[in-house]
Amino acid sequence: MGNYSLEEFLDWDPPIRGRISTNAAIGKTTWFQVGGNADILFRPKDTKDLANFLNNCPRDIGVTVIGAGSNILVRDGGISGVTIRLRDGFRNVSFEKHNDEEVIVTCGAGALDVIVSRKAAAEGVGGLEFLSGVPGTIGGALRMNAGAYGKEMKDVVVWATALDGQGSEHKLSNNDISFNYRHCNIPNDWIFTSAALRANILDKSAIQSSIERIANQRSDTQPIRARTSGSTFKNPNGHKAWELIDRAGCRGLRLGGAKVSEKHCNFLVNAENATAADLENLGEEIRRRVKDSCGIILEWEIERVGQHNSSAHGSTKI
Ligand SMILES: Cc1cc2nc3c(=O)[nH]c(=O)nc-3n(C[C@H](O)[C@H](O)[C@H](O)COP(=O)(O)OP(=O)(O)OC[C@H]3O[C@@H](n4cnc5c(N)ncnc54)[C@H](O)[C@@H]3O)c2cc1C
Repeated sequence: MGNYSLEEFLDWDPPIRGRISTNAAIGKTTWFQVGGNADILFRPKDTKDLANFLNNCPRDIGVTVIGAGSNILVRDGGISGVTIRLRDGFRNVSFEKHNDEEVIVTCGAGALDVIVSRKAAAEGVGGLEFLSGVPGTIGGALRMNAGAYGKEMKDVVVWATALDGQGSEHKLSNNDISFNYRHCNIPNDWIFTSAALRANILDKSAIQSSIERIANQRSDTQPIRARTSGSTFKNPNGHKAWELIDRAGCRGLRLGGAKVSEKHCNFLVNAENATAADLENLGEEIRRRVKDSCGIILEWEIERVGQHNSSAHGSTKI
């Protein structure tokens, strides 16, 4: 746990109201189901609790935030410092009708995208169907500017709130967040706590059919039941990453327990007891082969966090 003990966090005034634990098996709770433990895991009760935590936290400790873990690879050596996960106090979803057409959907950053999309559908609120195909949280979707089927967060966010590293709250407009492709430009240590999304009143059955269409397309084209983290690399300008990977002969490539999906070759899968190092090394091997085959350097979309395990580097042989 580095230089910090749990006691350090327990005698604050006001006290922590959320849950705090040490040596928490965080890697296994991500979509890849690999990687080490979090030194300290904090699950704040609500925004006030999180603000108090950030304000009192030793400045040099290092804070990592994880949503649903659907776009993250936790390395085998685990995450030092504090890992924060937004859960129950951050899952509210509410609807405010603006006029006969427009609805503002306000949601906590810990709400799952798919739940926001389904709750909206049940209210006859459309325009957020694309979120039904993204298996993360609203916080992760804001950070990654998540998108699918022609729409991304940039198109629907009205505002979002975030806490900075000292726990002060900021209300950010869509422009302030400065979304771009699978990225946004707010400082890395800021934590999104909520968002307001623009949506429309639509026919419930039309919304439902488009959610079903997205589900069918996804199960036809992506290994959605595998232990994966979605698209591994960003699409380079004017290219599709999967095509470059396919042309470089990487479809089905294996390294240790990690494999390039046969179904969608921009997806890596934990096929058989992979380590995080297997998955990262396989990703790096793909980058090498794609560069050799067409000169393009792929950029990781998956966020890799934590430390390598010095005693186990994973397989290096293909
Ligand atoms: C099967 C599958 C299909 C996918 N399909 C798509 C797709 O179609 N489109 C798409 O865009 N993505 C897709 N993804 C990737 C992933 O679901 C998205 O990137 C998602 O937005 C990540 O959200 P998360 O909550 O899981 O974030 P995590 O993976 O936990 O974290 C991702 C990043 O967001 C940061 N983060 C998380 N919460 C917060 C917060 N509250 N405040 C600040 N930063 C935060 C983390 O620190 C990290 O940098 C897919 C993934 C899988 C496994």
